[in-house]
Amino acid sequence: MKIAIMGAMPEEVAPILEKLGEYKTTKYADNEYYEATYKGVDIVVAYSKIGKVFSTLTATTMIEHFNCDRLLFSGVAGGINPSLKIGDLIVATKLSQHDLDITAFGHPMGFVPGGSVFVEADKDLIALSKDVAKELGKTVKEGIIATGDQFVHDEKVKQTIVKHFNADALEMEGGSVAVVCKSLNVPFFILRAISDTADTDASFSFDEFMESSAIISAEFIMKMIDRVVE
Ligand code: SAH
Repeated sequence: MKIAIMGAMPEEVAPILEKLGEYKTTKYADNEYYEATYKGVDIVVAYSKIGKVFSTLTATTMIEHFNCDRLLFSGVAGGINPSLKIGDLIVATKLSQHDLDITAFGHPMGFVPGGSVFVEADKDLIALSKDVAKELGKTVKEGIIATGDQFVHDEKVKQTIVKHFNADALEMEGGSVAVVCKSLNVPFFILRAISDTADTDASFSFDEFMESSAIISAEFIMKMIDRVVE
């Protein structure tokens, strides 16, 4: 077993690296990969940089170059579902690309031939997250995450994303990582803690809460890793 743990920004992986202790840094494909052994299991950590293209590159590299056979993503997201407050955790049941648009040809939003509107995350890892949440006495929401190359800070855009995808949260990497993992047959899990609610105040909320929410997500991911390596 070799586990990939990904984030998009340095703040999302810093708490994970702290927990892992010693690690080896390897430069590859214009990024850094941190290799560690945790409780006898090989782990590779990286932050991809923001967006679908960089996250695709990093997820692919972790699987194809570093031979990871499962992938867990930890990070922050904008909340759409009103039940999600700052710092709350959401586990993606399935993910979509909300900015993938060839509707001019009669296709639904998020669909291209050969693909699918949604990609489902690994059911066993989702089940494990439920166990971990129970153990910690934490409420973790399961829901749909919509991904696009855009920091959403607009009520109208939010509502359009709800209309097309019934999404509970949105971010900029999960949907692309999902496509990579599904295509390469690697079980994956996407966890996000809410940093903002994608409204007009989103950038201020993000700046204030990104770090604390990133820690909440990273701590939960490490509890899951503890169970995966058991
Ligand atoms: N502050 C950063 C930019 C952050 S972009 C800078 O100046 O460099 C937002 C990041 O957090 C992305 O990685 C995305 O996945 C997530 N995210 C959080 N809230 C979001 C929102 N409202 N819309 C889109 N992505 C969001």
